[in-house]
Amino acid sequence: MRARGDALAAIASERFDVLVIGGGITGAGVALDASSRGYSVALVEQADYASGTSSRSSKLVHGGLRYLQNFDLGLVREALLERQLMARLAPHLVRPLPMIVPAFEGAHPDRLVGIGLNMYDVMSMPLRGRRRGRRAQLDQSEAAWSPDRHRMISGAEVSALLPALADRDPTGGYLFYDCQTDDARLVLTVLGEAERFGAICANRARVTGLRAGGAGSDGATVVSVLDGCGGDRLEVRADNVINATGVWADRIVPGELSSEAELPQIVPSRGTHVLLSDGRLPLRAGAIVPVSDGRSIFALPWLGRTLVGTTDATYDGEIDHIRPSEQDVAYLLAAVNDFFGGCLSPADLVGAYAGVRPLISTGDSRRSVDISRREELFETSSGMITITGGKLTTWRRMAKLAVDRLVARDGRVAPCRTHEIPLGAAVDPEHLPRVTGVAEEAYAALAGRYGFAADQVLELAAADPVLARPIVAGQPDLLAEARFAAAAEQAASVGDVLLRRTRLGLVAARDCCHEGGAVARTVAETVGTELGWDAATVDAQADRFADEARAEGIVVPA
Ligand SMILES: Cc1cc2nc3c(=O)[nH]c(=O)nc-3n(C[C@H](O)[C@H](O)[C@H](O)COP(=O)(O)OP(=O)(O)OC[C@H]3O[C@@H](n4cnc5c(N)ncnc54)[C@H](O)[C@@H]3O)c2cc1C
Repeated sequence: MRARGDALAAIASERFDVLVIGGGITGAGVALDASSRGYSVALVEQADYASGTSSRSSKLVHGGLRYLQNFDLGLVREALLERQLMARLAPHLVRPLPMIVPAFEGAHPDRLVGIGLNMYDVMSMPLRGRRRGRRAQLDQSEAAWSPDRHRMISGAEVSALLPALADRDPTGGYLFYDCQTDDARLVLTVLGEAERFGAICANRARVTGLRAGGAGSDGATVVSVLDGCGGDRLEVRADNVINATGVWADRIVPGELSSEAELPQIVPSRGTHVLLSDGRLPLRAGAIVPVSDGRSIFALPWLGRTLVGTTDATYDGEIDHIRPSEQDVAYLLAAVNDFFGGCLSPADLVGAYAGVRPLISTGDSRRSVDISRREELFETSSGMITITGGKLTTWRRMAKLAVDRLVARDGRVAPCRTHEIPLGAAVDPEHLPRVTGVAEEAYAALAGRYGFAADQVLELAAADPVLARPIVAGQPDLLAEARFAAAAEQAASVGDVLLRRTRLGLVAARDCCHEGGAVARTVAETVGTELGWDAATVDAQADRFADEARAEGIVVPA
C-alpha cells in the first residue's frame, strides 16, 4: 500500500468523486467497486483497517445454514453464490472447509438437518441455462470451485475428522462444505486491489464532521478529518460520501441533517470467540456444536488452533474495545465440554476476542439472533449513502448496492466489475524461494496470507537473518512480516501487527502478552526500524500493546 503520510497528503489536496468512511470489509469493498468503475476514490479509517467488526468474525465465508431456520432464503442464496465467487477470486485466502453435524448412540443424524443441507446444496448452484452471453460464461467460471454435495458419513469418518469427539464414539454424521478465511487479511487484500485501481487509503484518519456543498466548496461535500498520528485537522473534498462504518454508522451525521429518521439505528450484538490449542481440542473439520439453550455454535480448525464461537447477545457497552465477557467465555466452554466430553477451563485458552455485529434496528423488540443479517442502504437528504448490516461473506454485493446507487444518481453507464477482479495473486507455496533460517511450515502460511506478495516478505528475511525468525516460538509468522506490515501495509503499532497483519494476538495471546512483554518489544523494535522510532518510542509502543491487549481482553485469566 501507499505510505500513510503520502496517502493523507494526497487525500487532503485532491478532490475526489467518492470518499469512503470506514476501512472494514464493507468500506474496502466500496473502494474497490467504485475505483474499478472509474471513480476517483479516497478511503479514511479512524483506527486500523479491519480493527472494527471485520477482524472479529467467525472467519466463515458461508451461506449460513442457521439462516435457513429463519427462512432468510434470499440471504442464504446470495451468500452461497458469493462464497463460490470468493473461493475463485481469492483461492489462497478463502478456502473450502469440511463441516460436520455428528450423531450419537445409534440415532441417525436429524432428518431436518438433512433437508436443510439439501436446500443448501441446491441453493449454492449457479442458475445455468437461463441466462445468455457474458453472464452465462460467468456462471461457468463461477462453478470453478463447487462444493461436493453433502453426504452421510460413518462414525469412524466422523472420529477421523473430529478427533476431539472420538471418545464419544459418534455413530455417523452429515458432512458438508463451507469456506473459511482470515477476515482481516481479506480486508487488506481488497484494499490492495482498490489501490491498484487508484483508490487512496489512509488509516488513523477519523471523520469528525461533514458539511454538504456550501459556499466556497464548488458543490463538494467538505469532510473534516482528524489525523490520529500528528493530530492535524484536514478538510477533504468529495462529490459523494459513502458511510461504511458498521456499528458506528449512526454516529456519522452530516451537518445539515435534520431528521434522525434518515439514519439507520444500529443495535450492536456482541459475539465472543475463544481459541484452544489443537492438542486440547483437535479438529480436522468444523463441527456444529449444539448448545443446551437451543442455539448452536461452531468449533473450527483455524491457523493451527481450534476456534470456538460465537455468542450472540444485544450489547450496549462502548464499541471501541470490546472484551469477551466472563459469562460468554463460560458459556462457550460449557458448550464444548458438554459436546466433546472434556473438562476445558479458561486456563486452556490460548486467546479470545469479541466483536459487535452491526445489526439494524427494525423498531421491534426481537432478540439479535432473530434480526436479519441482510444489508441495508440509506440515503440522507444531503446525499450521503450509508451501507451497513450484512455479512463478511456478502461484502461485494453490499459494495455493489452502494456504488450502483451512485452510478444511477450520476446517470453514468458503469457496470460493476468486482465479480471478475482477482483478489491478490495466489501462489503455490512450493514455488516460493527458500530462505535460510525460514522454517518449512512458514511457506504455506505466507502463501495463504499474501499469495504472490509473500516473495516480498521473504526478500526481507533473506536480507536480514534476524527477520527470518518466528515472532512467537512455535508459530509460523516471521519477524519479516512485522517489517513488511510497517513498510507496505500502513501498520504503525504492535497491535496492528499482532492483532491484524498476523493473527498472533488471537492464536497465541498468552505468548504475546507474556510477562516482560518480550514479543511486543521485538515487534516494536522491528516496526520502529522501518518508521524511525527512537528507544523511548519503542518502549512506549510495547507498553501500549499491553494496554490494548488488556482493553481487548485477548488473554482470559486462568
Ligand atoms: C462475532 C461475529 C461473528 C461473525 N461471523 C461472521 C462470519 O463468520 N461470516 C460472515 O460472513 N460474517 C460474520 N460476521 C459479520 C461480519 O463480520 C460483519 O458483517 C462485517 O465485518 C462488517 O464489516 P463493516 O466493514 O461493515 O464494519 P467494520 O468492520 O466494523 O468497519 C467499520 C469501520 O469504520 C471505522 N469508522 C467508524 N467511525 C469512523 C469515523 N468517524 N471515521 C473513519 N472511520 C470510522 C471503524 O473503525 C471500522 O474499522 C460476524 C460478526 C460478528 C460480530
